[in-house]
Amino acid sequence: MPVHRVKVRGDEGYVMLRGTCRTRRVMTAMREAVHPVRATLRIGHASMDTAEERDARGMEQMKERIFRRGAHGGHESAENDQHAPQSKFKPERRTAADDPNSSAILVPCPTCKEPLYVKELENNLYVCPKCGAHFRLNARQRLIYTLDEGSFTEWDMHIHPTDPLGFAIGNDGYDAKLGASQKKTAETEAMITGNGTINDEPVVIAIADFTFMGATMGSVYGEKLARAAERATRERLPLVTFNASGGARMQEGLFSLMQMAKTTAAVARLGDAGLPHIAVLTDPCYGGVTASYATVADVLLAEPGARIGFAGKTLIEQNMRQKLPDDVQTAEFQLKHGMIDDVVHRRDLRQMLSTLLALYGMPRKIASPLLDPAHVTADAAESVLSAAHA
Ligand SMILES: [Zn+2]
Repeated sequence: MPVHRVKVRGDEGYVMLRGTCRTRRVMTAMREAVHPVRATLRIGHASMDTAEERDARGMEQMKERIFRRGAHGGHESAENDQHAPQSKFKPERRTAADDPNSSAILVPCPTCKEPLYVKELENNLYVCPKCGAHFRLNARQRLIYTLDEGSFTEWDMHIHPTDPLGFAIGNDGYDAKLGASQKKTAETEAMITGNGTINDEPVVIAIADFTFMGATMGSVYGEKLARAAERATRERLPLVTFNASGGARMQEGLFSLMQMAKTTAAVARLGDAGLPHIAVLTDPCYGGVTASYATVADVLLAEPGARIGFAGKTLIEQNMRQKLPDDVQTAEFQLKHGMIDDVVHRRDLRQMLSTLLALYGMPRKIASPLLDPAHVTADAAESVLSAAHA
């Protein structure tokens, strides 16, 4: 289960614990720091407890630390921040729902088939207001909805994919396909990396763009991601990845498959340096990406309804010769079976990310001897560990 019940100094509460040593260390440090204010720390489905009335002053102080704002950013309560993206930018018009060449002002929802105003959809973060279906976003839209306005600096834009195998099926060469995708999306590859801030929390971000050849992981995709993880390690920054992929890029053969090992090793080194990797799985996330760096993160989040798996459902059914449940490979199914930590609505995602980043960053931000793991008593640590196995 992603949420665990723990007992800390006689108080019971809930924490999200994935069971890695690093996560435990962070949770242990957090436990000391959040003791007076756990009512503010909403993680997963449960809050730590309801000590709000008991220590309102402590809560305000901790809110100040956790949901801190820059000098120019003003101060808003965390609650007010949850339901709207901070960015004033308009997303670039590149999705099917928002084609610049189309004069359509209504598009059908793919799930409930209701006609929706494009403008209304755009203002609702591309979530159907009728049924809550999450439309796919391209990488630039994702950037706009996630990072603080004007904070993004893109990295490694100069790396372009090539055709190492001279791959072609009939008259369709890989080169031509790459060119067409680059023209269609105005991106050089299906991966965008860089740094920025989320609610003033500095972060390295890597976003897959499904509109570029199904975000298949070619060698440039892998290289950009590995470089981002390595630079995050050097600059001591957390890594957030948004993942959507059809798997390996078959046109690059073994060069593509090698990216699984390369990216996983890069994020493992990030972990060895004590830095968090938070992965957001978006629709659809399959194949080599699911089987490598995307699912070895410290925290795994997903958008509602996102399809997550390795091989497709039909293929598995044919191989196993048995019927799978209808909702298999959905984010909700994966949450129920312990594969991911939480399913987060798109409007809450930004707040969730900044809260997690703040929690992971707390030991370095708050100078307190209580945060030194050497001060954690053995019985307190045992309480957390035994709760995790309960
Ligand atoms: Zn709908």
